[in-house]
Amino acid sequence: MPVAEEFMRVAIIGSGPAGFYAAEALLKRSDTVVHVDMFDRLPTPFGLVRGGVAPDHPRVKSITRAYEQTAARPTFRFLGNVCLGRDLSVDQLRRHYHQIVYAVGNEASRRLGIPGEGITRCTPAAVFVGWYNGHPDYRDAKIDLSVSRVAVVGNGNVAVDVARVLLKAPDELGKTDIAGHALAALGNSRVREVFILGRRGPEQATFTPKEVAELGEIDGVDLVVDPSELADCPAFESLDNRQQQNLEILRSFAARPAGTNTKKVHLRFFVSAREVVADAAGTVAAIALEQESHAAAADGTGKIERLDVGMVLPAIGYAAKRIEGVPFDETALIVANEDGRVVDPRSRTVIANEYVVGWARTGPRGLIGAHKGASAHVVEHMTADGAGLETRALPEPDALMSLLRQRGQQIVSFDDWKQLDDVEQARGERRGAPRDKIVDVGAMLGILGST
Ligand SMILES: Cc1cc2nc3c(=O)[nH]c(=O)nc-3n(C[C@H](O)[C@H](O)[C@H](O)COP(=O)(O)OP(=O)(O)OC[C@H]3O[C@@H](n4cnc5c(N)ncnc54)[C@H](O)[C@@H]3O)c2cc1C
Repeated sequence: MPVAEEFMRVAIIGSGPAGFYAAEALLKRSDTVVHVDMFDRLPTPFGLVRGGVAPDHPRVKSITRAYEQTAARPTFRFLGNVCLGRDLSVDQLRRHYHQIVYAVGNEASRRLGIPGEGITRCTPAAVFVGWYNGHPDYRDAKIDLSVSRVAVVGNGNVAVDVARVLLKAPDELGKTDIAGHALAALGNSRVREVFILGRRGPEQATFTPKEVAELGEIDGVDLVVDPSELADCPAFESLDNRQQQNLEILRSFAARPAGTNTKKVHLRFFVSAREVVADAAGTVAAIALEQESHAAAADGTGKIERLDVGMVLPAIGYAAKRIEGVPFDETALIVANEDGRVVDPRSRTVIANEYVVGWARTGPRGLIGAHKGASAHVVEHMTADGAGLETRALPEPDALMSLLRQRGQQIVSFDDWKQLDDVEQARGERRGAPRDKIVDVGAMLGILGST
């Protein structure tokens, strides 16, 4: 039976950084009390901080301590293992909450759109990243590391992470929270050379100076940059600070004497992937690259080069996944919105009380820290739009949970997650790592069901 409430009830869908920063800003509102229910399709929180950020970047991952403080607030609930569009509909959310925030990230990969894409051993970098990070969706991904040369298409931070993980010594990776199955496979890896392929010049690369500098410091790995590919950069003064730093780092790499390590990472610029070439068995044999002109706008020269590689990992960006009932912008591949207010994608009229934050709002741009201010900005809209909304009577706060449980849904609370966290940390201790992840949703639910 509907009850009048004296507080706002907000559903946040997605427990990555953007969702947690939205929750933090909502829970700090002083004009009204806000109750936040944060849903995630996985039993584990933290989105890409757990499933995307490279295992050898533990300092980045430690941001979860701040999210734990938000989760400890008395009017916050985590409802893991509940997927919007599968276990829960948008209409149900509308009935049970005053406002909804979509914080579902970008869970699809952008495609190269070239012949051969998707043949065996041509795998989106997102799959490889999810596999080594123990994301349950990718635990069974077929990653064949019996090849010696790998091409990573794209030159952002994801490409750099992927190259580093492919070439780093397994005993170093063993000290991280990398998934056990990935550690075992990387221990037997025959990969020796990784080519990171950028379509434009070095000044257009989107990697950050810290990440690219780290690439030149991996023990036992030489970094190779062809000085001629740095020659035609625009005037140094015309570049922004990040570009200048990148260029200085790349020039210092190019000036290094040739290394003698068998493991090498090659940073290539001005090459566009045109075809993933298959061998007789239908698996990757090479990638055909077109030389781009060094002029400001990338333009094919018609000169084709065949680079023999056994695996291709496109890392050209992410896109939001369509969710039943959530307005989708088919051009930008994000939740349709105007400055965080969800809109009808055609008429652009605002859909009242629905908001979007994070990568689902903007596409795959911005590091974790950037979401704090961006989510708080959207919460300002929610505050401005929601005056008096809390007087709207809603069903009992537990009605939706009861409904889900009646249907046999096992809902994972934040306390449940802390149990899983303890188990993972204890497993990790045995291999000298911060944690050894459980990568199977069934196993996670089994552990919780048995306590
Ligand atoms: C490989 C990689 C490495 C990165 N490394 C760094 C780094 O080192 N430093 C840094 O600052 N930034 C890094 N980033 C960027 C950072 O991860 C993102 O900026 C940030 O995670 C985006 O936050 P988000 O909350 O929008 O999405 P996400 O973190 O993706 O969170 C989305 C959440 O929504 C949930 N979800 C999705 N669909 C549904 C549904 N239908 N129902 C319920 N829940 C759903 C997902 O399970 C997930 O938990 C990296 C990104 C990638 C891809």
